[in-house]
This record gives sequence, C-alpha cells and structure tokens, in this order.
Amino acid sequence: MTTDDTKAETRFFGLAVSPGIARGTVHVVRDEAEDVARYHIEPSEIANEIGRFETALIQTRAQILEMQQKIAEAIGAKDAGIFDAHLLVVEDRTLIDEVLRRLEGDLCNVDYVFQEVAKHYADTLSKIDDPYLRERALDIQDVTRRVVRNLQGKAQKAFLALSDPHILVAHNITPSDTATMDRKQVLGFATDLGSRTSHTAIMARSMNIPAVVGLHNATEKLETGHEVLVDGYNGLLILNPTPDTLWHYGELKHRKEQVAEQLTGLRETKSTTRDGRHIVLSANIELPNDVESVAQNGAEGIGLYRTEFLYLNRATLPTEEEQYQTYRKVAEHVAPHPLIIRTFDLGGDKIACGMEAFDEQNPFMGLRAIRFCLENLDIFKAQLRAILRASSTGNLKIMFPMISGLDELRRAIGVLDECKAELKRERVAFGSATEVGAMIEIPSAALCADALAREVDFFSIGTNDLIQYALAVDRVNERIANLYEPAHPAVLRLLKMVSDAAHRHDIWAGVCGEMAGDLTMVPLLLGLGMDELSVSASLVPRVKRVVQSLSIPECEKLVTAALELTTPAEILARCTEVARQHYADLIS
Ligand code: PEP
Ligand code: MG
Repeated sequence: MTTDDTKAETRFFGLAVSPGIARGTVHVVRDEAEDVARYHIEPSEIANEIGRFETALIQTRAQILEMQQKIAEAIGAKDAGIFDAHLLVVEDRTLIDEVLRRLEGDLCNVDYVFQEVAKHYADTLSKIDDPYLRERALDIQDVTRRVVRNLQGKAQKAFLALSDPHILVAHNITPSDTATMDRKQVLGFATDLGSRTSHTAIMARSMNIPAVVGLHNATEKLETGHEVLVDGYNGLLILNPTPDTLWHYGELKHRKEQVAEQLTGLRETKSTTRDGRHIVLSANIELPNDVESVAQNGAEGIGLYRTEFLYLNRATLPTEEEQYQTYRKVAEHVAPHPLIIRTFDLGGDKIACGMEAFDEQNPFMGLRAIRFCLENLDIFKAQLRAILRASSTGNLKIMFPMISGLDELRRAIGVLDECKAELKRERVAFGSATEVGAMIEIPSAALCADALAREVDFFSIGTNDLIQYALAVDRVNERIANLYEPAHPAVLRLLKMVSDAAHRHDIWAGVCGEMAGDLTMVPLLLGLGMDELSVSASLVPRVKRVVQSLSIPECEKLVTAALELTTPAEILARCTEVARQHYADLIS
C-alpha cells in the first residue's frame, strides 16, 4: 500500500450514486479500450490460442458482413462499402502471420499479442503523410477493438481481473463492466463521467458497491497506489484522508450500520401504509444471481428484470433454450410472487457486441429497446418464446420497454401472439395466462396512456427515462445532472396522467425507475395512487419502513398541494417536510 502521509487531504466532489463508505488503494484506469491483460502461456497452450484467434477472426468477419448488409439495406450499398477496408484487415496475411510468429516467440495470450501487432501497424501507417493511409490506420484500430472484444468474449478486461482489493477510479465504466466486477476486490469506485440514473450507477447500487460518479477529472489527479476514501452517501472522493476524517467516517459507518440492523427486522413484515393500504414492494434485478437478494431483503417478487444484461459481456447471443432455463430458474425462485420480465432494452448506454457498429449520434433516442427488438425479430422472438415457455412454471409477466404509442404496443403484442401460435403448432408447452404490461417511460406514452391502458394488464413507469425525455436531460451526462429533477411539476403531471388512466381502465400502475427508491419521493408516489414500487433489492427494507410510516390521505394531501406549486424546489421542499416528519433517521 502506498500511503503518502506528507500530502494534504484533498476532496473531489461528484454525485453520490451508491451508498456506503469504502477506503483503500486506488487503481486508475484512464483508457479502458487499451486495457488488455498480458499473461504467460505454456507452449502446449499455443494451439488453443491459435484456435481462439481463428474463431475471433471468423466472428469479426461475420459481424462486419452483417453490419455491411444492414447498412446497405438502410442507406445503400455505396455507404456500406466503407467496411470493405475492415474486411481486408481481418484477412491480412502479413498481420496474421506476424501474430502467429510472436505468439510462439513471446509465449503470452493472443489478445495481447494481436493488440500489440495491430497497434504497431496502425502507428506506422498513421505517421506516413498520406490521408489514405491514415484512414487505413483508423480502420485497423477499429477492427482491432472488435477482434479483441471477440477474443475476450466473456473474459474480463484487465482492470476487472485485479486480484487485490482496491478502489477503482476510471474515466468511465460501462454497465457491463460493473456487472462483471468482483465485489470482493472492488471496494468502491469513482468515475469522471456518469450520473445517478445511468445503468452503471444502478448496477453499483444493486451490487452494494459504494460509488461516486461525475468527478470530471479524478483520473487526471489520482495515481494508482494513492490512498482514498469513497463516500457514496455524499458524493465525495477523499485523497489522503486525515485521522480526523477517518474518525468522522468511522462514526458515520457505525450509525448507518445501526439503522440497517434495525431494518432487517422488517423482512417478514408487509409494506402496508398506516391506514392499511398494501403497496406491492418488489425488487429490480439485472443478473439471474441477484435473485438471492430479493427474498433476503423482504421483497414481494421482481418488478423489473433487466434481461439485456444477459447480452452484455459476451460474444454470442443467448439462445432461446439458454434464456428459457435462466427465466425458469428465476421464476421458480421467486414463486408464488411474480417475476416481471422486461424484454431486451438494448441500446442507449447498454451496447451489446456488434451494436457499436451503428455509432448513433443520440443513442438514447435511437434504435433502442422495443425499437431494436421490432427491427431484429429473430432476437425478439427467441426471447418471447423463452419467456412463454418459462411461464408454465412461475408467476411470470412480460413488459415492453420504451413504448411510444399504440402502434408500437400492438406490433409488440402481435409478435408475442405469433410466438404463441408457433409454440402451439410445435406442441411446445407454455403458460398462456401471462400478463402483459407496457413500460411508460416516454412522454408520448404518458400522454396517450388511456389508449394504451385498454390493451395491457398493467403499467410500469420507468421514471429514469421518463424524466430524461420529459426534461430533455441526458440521464448519463454529469454536466447537466443538476437539471435532472424528479420533483419537476411536469414530471408530477405525467405521473398523475398515467396513474389516473390506469385506474380508469382497472389496471394497476407501478413505478420501477429510481424514483421509487428515492425515499423523499415515495410519499408523492403513494399520493398519486401507485399500486406497486419496484426498487433495487438493497433499498427494499428502507422503502418498506417509509411505506409503513405513511398514510394515504396525507400523501394525497401532499399531491394536491404539490400540484399547486410551480417549481421543483418547492415541490421537493414539501416532500422533504413529510419525509422528515415520519422517517428523518432514514434521510439524514
Ligand atoms: C427506467 O427508465 O426508469 C427504467 C426502469 O428502465 P432503465 O433504467 O433500465 O432504462
Ligand atoms: Mg428505461
């Protein structure tokens, strides 16, 4: 451990995204794209490495061809021609032979060797004063990234394979990186980029890893080996904490542990308000293993299973059978409680292998979620068939993300019906009574909620996106995080519209975005008539305590008052007042 006691304490201010305090030695990652681990191999392993290399080249070639075809269909063959140069790279004999030669000479893993050789080529070309050759250097870099990613498949990036406990400080961490983090080694993390509702932050909360994001330039100021403290409650990264600071944090940790201890007693209790209204309190999960934490924290099933995480961190798509097995196990685990499976929400900040090729200008407004699935029916149908088959066991419900209007919803339900008909023809067993819901996370869906409510069994409001689209605030951009305001009067009105429309049509409405776990906002959601709240499993005990300490009439009074207010600050102040009155210890 490198501690520099002579240095003064320095504080970096960011956004608190995952509660907890972590102290340890920093590992800084500045450019994760370059982060390929080098490890020794035995001569007997060379053949295996060559096999991996060949598979990755074939896979890369197939991906480029597929991309070319899609681009040709979308914008014409001329533009798709730019990928011819990429194909030449994966077929370049000189480059391939050089890799094979070095593999035998250096005796290290092929991902590392390939990256080194390709980098040498690209560097040489980029130094030549010829625009054509400089372009080719960029092609090589692009293809290199793709080949390395295919080579790594499920393998981890070097910084995710560190074997000593550390605090990870990175420019950015993707949601899939977070999903593969080793909780025992990553004590906490801090990033330059990011915001509260990014999927990286959501994953950190799910995994109970203290995290601070949006620090702007932490990677420039810190070095591997520095001693730091991550304060995931207040959004602070403290370099060289003084003994006084450490004492203060020791106290804070003790207080928080006491509150957590008291909350464990609530596990078997119901989330019922003081006046007897039961609010279904379920958990959000990202990975199948998270299912353990659902009952442990006293949740009533799963209100949002973000299945797209199955897709990240791997080079091949999960098959229908693999998905069926996964969903079935999760459903059995939570039965008789429901498991609400959200169909793949790929795109935005969750990019699966091969998708990066499209490099959209506005990925959150691009080919994401249901739009991506309706364009890729083979992927969509494999998932729907797997869900339908799994639904013969547990209490399974399906919901579609990013529904913008009735046509899209009908198309999605149409594909689901096709899958049912196919399974019937094939005499494959499936549960037919599966409820279908729409996620309401685009303002147009909230505005047309009456029409949508007639055709589904429930609404689940994705406030993370609803707020981003309603206020035009990119949910992962730390520079405008202050504008991301759940208490905005416009958000309040949209939520009211959705809840009212649901109840007019006798269906239930829940909230599965991060707002449901924001303890100050819960009174507002109950006052709006939400029937269900689905939050990160670790937040379930706190939200349960909140629900138990409130009564519906006082929450409705709060909503009536809030609807008269015109600024987010005023609404937030009213909510905070109610929260302080009933559960001050939880929000301090
Ligand atoms: C949301 O948008 O609020 C939501 C629950 O979905 P996600 O965060 O995965 O986009
Ligand atoms: Mg969403």
